[in-house]
Amino acid sequence: QVHTRNMPLGKDVDLAKLAEITYGYTGADLAALSKEAAMKALRRALQQKIINPEDPSTFTDDNLKRIQVSMQDFLSAMRETIPSALREIYIEVPKVRWSDIGGLAEAKQELQEMVEWPLKHPDRFKRLGIKAPRGILLFGPPGTGKTLLAKAVATESGSNFISVRGPEVLSKWFGESEKAIREIFKKARMAAPAVVFFDEIDSIAPARGMAVDTGAMDRIVAQLLAEMDSISRLDDIVIIGATNRPDMMDPALLRPGRFDRIVYIPPPDKEARFEILRVHTRNMPLGKDVDLEELANMLEGYSGADIEMLVREAGLIALRENENAASVDARHFLQAMKKVRASITPDMIKFYESWWDRIRQMVARTRAR
Ligand code: ADP
Repeated sequence: QVHTRNMPLGKDVDLAKLAEITYGYTGADLAALSKEAAMKALRRALQQKIINPEDPSTFTDDNLKRIQVSMQDFLSAMRETIPSALREIYIEVPKVRWSDIGGLAEAKQELQEMVEWPLKHPDRFKRLGIKAPRGILLFGPPGTGKTLLAKAVATESGSNFISVRGPEVLSKWFGESEKAIREIFKKARMAAPAVVFFDEIDSIAPARGMAVDTGAMDRIVAQLLAEMDSISRLDDIVIIGATNRPDMMDPALLRPGRFDRIVYIPPPDKEARFEILRVHTRNMPLGKDVDLEELANMLEGYSGADIEMLVREAGLIALRENENAASVDARHFLQAMKKVRASITPDMIKFYESWWDRIRQMVARTRAR
């Protein structure tokens, strides 16, 4: 009421309703939200040429009266304002598509079957008595597209995406992290169908003995497991965890009914690097001498994130050389390679592969039992 006091509100604006849905907004957030809603109304007035900033004669009382802040303005402003209290748990409608991801054909296919199909066609799964997996763990070197995959599967299945960064949950909800876990799942139920993505899940559910405050950690893991167990009846929430340090995770999380589908996200091979280059140079005018295939050959050990940075750097070098540059040429890429180095070493790959072997044996043993 305070922040909209002097605003020309449309008849449809229901402040009580807004109060209800702005859960987690602080006073400052509400002020920002109101301001943003008003800006939207103003932008619309400019677009519709009701007023023209260059022509003061358009600022008549009549014209100004035609500018009203509508409920829709508030709702679209809400989509852009993240409430501070929930900043580590916010719902987004992601825009990443499968085609934005280079390589990883196998992982895409697996996620399609495990997440997209059950979310899109729960009836088919029910009919055939197939249970969709609840928890999926993506592991692999940093920057290989784990977050991207989780977002894409949410987009492609028309789901909301709730992203939770492990370390943030721990620091912001210090001592109360199990409450945060409860909130996250509460939000997920409200936002279903939803993909809940736990990035760096090893940090909230570390193997016993790894954590400083074991008591608190045990409570978080217990809460997470309880929530995951209770989700079984709801078919439209899928939990995806990602980690670069699978060895540091509490193995209790990997038991059946929890993160029981484990997908290795390997560093990109030659073909994948070529595809990633293509994705990230989509809107870049390339010089005739740029051969992306040849470039992909040279990028052994580069992750998707490294490649993205390399492309941006090459573009910047071209601009620095000539601010009117019309294309990014081979020499710019070569120069960029000196600055942006490969982040994945053969030792890292060995580490992930050996963990993968161990886990697969463990899973085979439990299945056999
Ligand atoms: P991770 O979660 O595995 O650490 P991200 O998915 O956050 O990595 O990737 C970071 C960035 O690197 C992405 O935003 C994207 O621009 C780029 N990237 C990584 N992998 C790929 C890929 N396979 N295809 C296209 N871009 C990628």
